[in-house]
Amino acid sequence: MSFKTQIQKRRTFGIISHPDAGKTTLTEKLLLFGGAIQEAGAVKSNKIKKSATSDFMEIERQRGISVATSVLAFLYKDKKINILDTPGHKDFAEDTFRTLTAVDSVIVVIDVAKGVEEQTKKLVEVCRMRNIPIIVFINKLDREGKDAFDLLDELELKLGLSITPLSFPIGMGYDFKGIYNIYEKNINLFSGDNKKNIEDTIAFNDITNPELETIIGSAAAKTLRDNLELVEGVYPDFDKEKYLEGKQQPVFFGSALNNFGVRELLDCFIEIAPPPRAKMAEERLVEALEPDMTGFVFKIHANMDPKHRDRLAFIKIVSGTFERNRPYLHVRNGKKLKFSSPNAFFAEKKEIVDISYPGDIVGLHDTGNFKIGDTLTEGENLHYKGIPSFSPEHFRYINNADPMKAKQLNKGIDQLMDEGVAQLFTLEINNRKVIGTVGALQFEVIQYRLEHEYGAKCTYENFPVHKACWIDPENSKSEEFKEFSRVKQKFLAKDKKGQLVFLADSQFSLQMTQQKYPSVKLHFTSEFD
Ligand code: GDP
Repeated sequence: MSFKTQIQKRRTFGIISHPDAGKTTLTEKLLLFGGAIQEAGAVKSNKIKKSATSDFMEIERQRGISVATSVLAFLYKDKKINILDTPGHKDFAEDTFRTLTAVDSVIVVIDVAKGVEEQTKKLVEVCRMRNIPIIVFINKLDREGKDAFDLLDELELKLGLSITPLSFPIGMGYDFKGIYNIYEKNINLFSGDNKKNIEDTIAFNDITNPELETIIGSAAAKTLRDNLELVEGVYPDFDKEKYLEGKQQPVFFGSALNNFGVRELLDCFIEIAPPPRAKMAEERLVEALEPDMTGFVFKIHANMDPKHRDRLAFIKIVSGTFERNRPYLHVRNGKKLKFSSPNAFFAEKKEIVDISYPGDIVGLHDTGNFKIGDTLTEGENLHYKGIPSFSPEHFRYINNADPMKAKQLNKGIDQLMDEGVAQLFTLEINNRKVIGTVGALQFEVIQYRLEHEYGAKCTYENFPVHKACWIDPENSKSEEFKEFSRVKQKFLAKDKKGQLVFLADSQFSLQMTQQKYPSVKLHFTSEFD
């Protein structure tokens, strides 16, 4: 099979949702269709059930599961599908943001009763910033939920999407009769029996056909016709180009639990979703078809076994082929590295592979060379853009609790930050270290891992910060900048890359600072032009 064909057949995507909308269930059903698993229940949910847990076994279990489900690959109708797992728990949102840099498209799952929720908003915003193609799946139609048109409005208003429904429900909850597939022009009747109705659809090119009454009853037939007329009047036709540019989002309805609407989603997905896309490096745009291998690290996972402190670095291949035992340049270190056992991922296992293609994810054993965001090439000096950090939500001083183990503590903090577990800020005024996390749970994870993996002990101390803002080095010679640095000295820190950060202690002080020093540009993510 030619290189080009290999690229064309790959679809690498992520499923995102607010917890409980049905991401795990949908993933599992997709794998069932792909024949990758034989029965439901094989995909483990990776969510932490308790909101705050001091049960460290739970954290360990979580880490184990998340490695197992990091990438789920399967074949469906000749396409190689790579689903990248995104943690649903909000404390791990940063992980999800990073994973989104490695996907070529996403499916967003929405709960029909809950509509657009908080976590969905944040994740979709990141996708929109990057023009990632989005398909929406409205789930749990077997339950009572919001009116379909109200939900479509919500998608537009709350997520800022330009949607077009490609299927439409016939009833809902108790009255749920099935789905009209606008894209394929057929009806899929709901029987409530999740083993059936995988294949039985009734072709229905002409919605005015009186047979509709016989099939779904006259009241439902009238409502469906009215609804479809409204859909046609209100929403634009599906435009694949616009979808690929991230400017239009098709919507499907279904019930993942009942296996309903999932095949339609998958069939449409493999037809419209993009094969591996070109990616921007600081130097230039890199096309998947280029022969030289390039790729970047988007995730690092520590070994579960504390005796082997190696880690698994997940690389997304952007161009060329990644081959076993071939030397590649680790651009940041300027070193050539060879990998004798690169892992590829399948639905339930990982195995060593000789060759991987653009769109694929390779897991590399690493003893501490890699950081999130690192680029690998065949020799070109290339830096892939785009794994920004957002301001953490929680900040605490980290103190050494065992003076004999200062070295271990520093090494541990360093490596955990490389993995992207949290962000480290070093205060300018006294060099004290402050850890910033998205969720409180991370502090426990860090403390536990420092002790069990590095033999170091730490304590925390509160450090009230409202938001971390990255400071543009532009204008740093100006008088205003100097005054700002002097007055705000207590609140200045360096992040891990050495970028200057302003740690505002309240929304008010942030606003005042912006007013008083307008030429000091503050950014809310670590990457800016
Ligand atoms: P996740 O947190 O997004 O991964 O959500 P899960 O897939 O774990 O689903 C959350 C809950 O919703 C579970 O109890 C599922 O069984 C249930 N669920 C998922 N899909 C459906 C559906 O189509 N209908 C109904 N009634 N329940 C569903």
